[in-house]
Amino acid sequence: MPAAPDTQHPPPHHGDSGPASRRRVFRRIYPLRILGMGLGGLLIASVLHQHDMLTQYGWLAVASFVLWPHIAYLLARYSADPFRAEIRNLLIDSALVGLWVPLMQFNLLPSVVLIAVTTYDKFSSGIKRLWLYSLPGMLGAGLLATLLVRPEPRLESGLMVVIFTLPIIVVHTMAVSIASYRLIRTVARQNRQLDELRRTDAQTGLAARSHWQEQASASLERFHTHAEPACLLMIDIDRFKPINDLHGHTVGDEAIRAVGRVIRDCVRAQDHAGRYGGDEFVVVCSNARTATAQAMAERIREQIATVRLRELPGLRLTSSIGLAETQPHQRQLRDWINDADAALYRAKHLGRNQVSAFQAPAAAANAALAVVPAPGT
Ligand code: GH3
Ligand code: MG
Repeated sequence: MPAAPDTQHPPPHHGDSGPASRRRVFRRIYPLRILGMGLGGLLIASVLHQHDMLTQYGWLAVASFVLWPHIAYLLARYSADPFRAEIRNLLIDSALVGLWVPLMQFNLLPSVVLIAVTTYDKFSSGIKRLWLYSLPGMLGAGLLATLLVRPEPRLESGLMVVIFTLPIIVVHTMAVSIASYRLIRTVARQNRQLDELRRTDAQTGLAARSHWQEQASASLERFHTHAEPACLLMIDIDRFKPINDLHGHTVGDEAIRAVGRVIRDCVRAQDHAGRYGGDEFVVVCSNARTATAQAMAERIREQIATVRLRELPGLRLTSSIGLAETQPHQRQLRDWINDADAALYRAKHLGRNQVSAFQAPAAAANAALAVVPAPGT
């Protein structure tokens, strides 16, 4: 009956065979069992005193509540599988409580408190169904003791027994509360870390694709609801595959990280930069029209051209950038991305290492008419 649950450090699964973690299990439980059994022993001694049975069962109380915690420790300590041995110990804790209920002549308050506390410990151990497995042992020991001793029920508790019940209730509740508090804090911290991991691209530190998409969707939404313009830049490293093929992925990875840094340095605080995948990056320039975004895109392109890799200082990187301003026909993020992608494709098609702004089909046709000489001229 360890006084505090072990939810803060759930025991390893059976498959977790790390010797260090197995050692930790019984080391952690040892002081808790001494405390829990100590308080339980005092309570039972008070019941025996009330029933004038101290001389009859005092030796058994000493064995159960004073010696047992140390025996349990030694059993686990020198077991080939300390974790399994500790599970056995926890089941024996429950059986001992079951044994003592008839010996206390079913004195109601201590019986209920001890059964509840010891069963709760099984729940809070985090070991699947351990509470259920503890019931047969507890019931069996109780039944056996009932048959052997045939106690006459004395349900009422004297003041002394009530007083000795209080420390168990208080200490156990405190221990449970502290462990729960720590667990909640740990889970909250881990959730934050998970969220951070989900949001961030590990290689570049820019927003990961899914997180960036959420931000970009919000920008498009603001355009449709508040007419707030924004521009999307789609940036792709030129002829990146040959860099990998010729110089290896380490160089390729360094290039991706360097381009990520350039983009992060070039965008404004209100912009959202992300890694779209592979050698493709995206930026939402918030509250910006094409001219502003174009200037930013040019800056990014120029800065990428100045990148020098530590692994291969002679390598020169260039990039192509497609730019698309928010337009009424972009009902979904996909539409906006398609426009930026079309602009990027155009930049690639026109020879790479340049910025190209998306032109709606009508505008593109007009532009083509303007450069194609009319027949007969
Ligand atoms: P283009 O100028 O048309 O963009 O040609 P490209 O060679 O850059 O073609 P593309 O953009 O399709 O090539 C992307 C390559 O990037 C393919 C893939 O092997 C590589 N790649 C994707 N992610 C990573 C990464 O995290 N690290 C490295 N080293 N390579 C990556
Ligand atoms: Mg590329």
